[in-house]
Amino acid sequence: RRRRRLAAGQGPGRTADGHPVALYGNIGSARDLHGNLEGVGLFRTELLYLDRADAPGRDEQAAAYAEVFAALPGRRVIVRTLDAGADKPLPFLHHGDEPNPALGIRGLRLARRRPDVLRAQLEAIAQAARSATADVWVMAPMVATVAEAAGFAAVCRDVGLPTAGAMVEVPAAALRARALLGVVDFLSIGTNDLSQYTFAADRQCGQLADLLDPGQPALLELVAACAAAGQAAGKPVGVCGEAAADPRLAPVLVGLGVTSLSMAPRAVPEVREALAAHTLADCRRLAAEALAAGDVSAPSSRTNTP
Ligand code: PEP
Ligand code: MG
Repeated sequence: RRRRRLAAGQGPGRTADGHPVALYGNIGSARDLHGNLEGVGLFRTELLYLDRADAPGRDEQAAAYAEVFAALPGRRVIVRTLDAGADKPLPFLHHGDEPNPALGIRGLRLARRRPDVLRAQLEAIAQAARSATADVWVMAPMVATVAEAAGFAAVCRDVGLPTAGAMVEVPAAALRARALLGVVDFLSIGTNDLSQYTFAADRQCGQLADLLDPGQPALLELVAACAAAGQAAGKPVGVCGEAAADPRLAPVLVGLGVTSLSMAPRAVPEVREALAAHTLADCRRLAAEALAAGDVSAPSSRTNTP
């Protein structure tokens, strides 16, 4: 078993019949990089901004990005722009004036208040990308409309970052996936927030775990809509929420049509093994079954089975 695991731990992700599925790591800094990653599908950049009176300077940011890019020569690194707000307020952006921070100025919405902060971050990423061989993509969190995505992509192009994407974390974005792919190059589905906003269930609330379960058919329907839009447009659609790290769910997500899965680096070997154990046809069958299944129910309403 150990030998099989080691063998499965090499090379890019693929199904038993060779259908490629990129397996990327989620990181918050260069310190999180370990194992021989195919690339990084979610580089969370909030760490750089926490506990400060103002945004970090361009050179300081560029140095942090460059450290990650240098560790992944020739490989893809998808940098997510600042996703502060909600549980991560920043003193220079948030003033404690929001009654409902999860529905307030967070993610890309920060650019409404401080467009200069977003532009400076993208300039720092572009600066670091210029002297690296990594294939640097950027994406915005908490996109709700096509207009927001188009505005983001325009700034990206302006600073010299040619590949811009939108995270799908809000049901409105999933419903408009096709139109979104008219203005951005890829989508990345953040299932943690997409579950929270689809089910109106706080992602920190353990008592609502059944509503936050990414196996819920309603959530999978939104993933399927995004993946279908990606296939129609010929553009990548990945998943970078916790769902991607679940070896039982990964084949389902692939069967729905997603092209990459990004997860904590330590979760990659098990997900790789799960994909290697299923053909693409198996994955599609599992996806159809999951879509047709009943809701994931709350423990109290589950019938007792022996
Ligand atoms: C998500 O919401 O699924 C996601 C990947 O972003 P974060 O967990 O950082 O909000
Ligand atoms: Mg999120």
